[in-house]
Amino acid sequence: MRPIERALVVGAGTMGHGIAQVLAAAGIEVTLVDVAQDLVDRGLQRIKANLESGVAKGKVTAAAKDATLAKLCGSTDLPLALSSADLLVEAIPEDMQKKRELFSLADTKMHVGALLASNTSSLSITEIASATKRPEHVVGLHFFNPVHLMKLLEIVRGALTAAAVVEAARALAARLGKTCIVVNDSPGFATSRLGLAVGLEATRMLEEGVASAADIDTAMKLGYGYPMGPLALGDLVGLDVRLAIAEAMHEQLGTDTFRPPRLLRKLVRLGHLGKKSGRGFFLYDDKGEIVGDNPVARPPGAHA
Ligand code: NAD
Repeated sequence: MRPIERALVVGAGTMGHGIAQVLAAAGIEVTLVDVAQDLVDRGLQRIKANLESGVAKGKVTAAAKDATLAKLCGSTDLPLALSSADLLVEAIPEDMQKKRELFSLADTKMHVGALLASNTSSLSITEIASATKRPEHVVGLHFFNPVHLMKLLEIVRGALTAAAVVEAARALAARLGKTCIVVNDSPGFATSRLGLAVGLEATRMLEEGVASAADIDTAMKLGYGYPMGPLALGDLVGLDVRLAIAEAMHEQLGTDTFRPPRLLRKLVRLGHLGKKSGRGFFLYDDKGEIVGDNPVARPPGAHA
């Protein structure tokens, strides 16, 4: 494998900006790519804001902030960025066709020995890899949100992923200061499969009027030691993203556990996508703090 000196992160959204940040903080030159310049700029701006907040809290030095920012640049020229990168991390929406198109292009542009990785939450790494002529160099690198704070990196081994590629992924995890687990390619891997099962069941419980959103979340925080409730986590992930993952998991596993609840579809149709739109299972203020339950997510007849 090539030593990783230059990386390309495709998709500057919730995950892509965070992945670019942690790669740059580890001293890797990073290009962050999206389909439009304003999206690239917004991703870079979010990284700057994360780092400034880290400095204000005393968790990041001003020198480390400046060094990280100096390693980052943005672009909308995907073919050019692919041609100079040792590592691709794809973080575009959860859509197999789009991911396969990107990997097919990457295959034609990237150096021999480059590492081709997807941040997919649920889709088959084996199927993504089959869009290339080098499936042995394709691996899942599943980061968690927010990327700069979450310690886990789930490495997903596709059916044809080479052992040396898994080792390179482990070495990268260590370089980024993440703890890794290695999972065989299976829908939702270890994390999304278990996390989503709880999140979707919590949604059905809210729909049935078992308890309020706040009380369902408190049940799991105080009763089971979850750092964050499953509904607030859904809002953080993005309800559109959660729905896409549920649909993919339901299609692949076929069990009712992953059938998307009606309430989730309703919130997405309304554009109540969670924290990023200020409304999801909960309502959010300008600082992103929860200020109450979203009335449209309450079952009929429930009181505030
Ligand atoms: P997002 O919608 O926030 O961001 C996706 C970005 O990709 C958008 O800015 C979009 O403009 C861009 N994009 C779309 N097509 C593109 C293309 N062809 N080339 C370049 N850019 C393109 O999505 P997200 O939440 O960051 O999710 C991205 C991936 O990460 C998905 O596969 C998702 O399942 C996975 N994931 C998400 C989370 C989460 O908490 N949101 C956690 C782990 C993994």
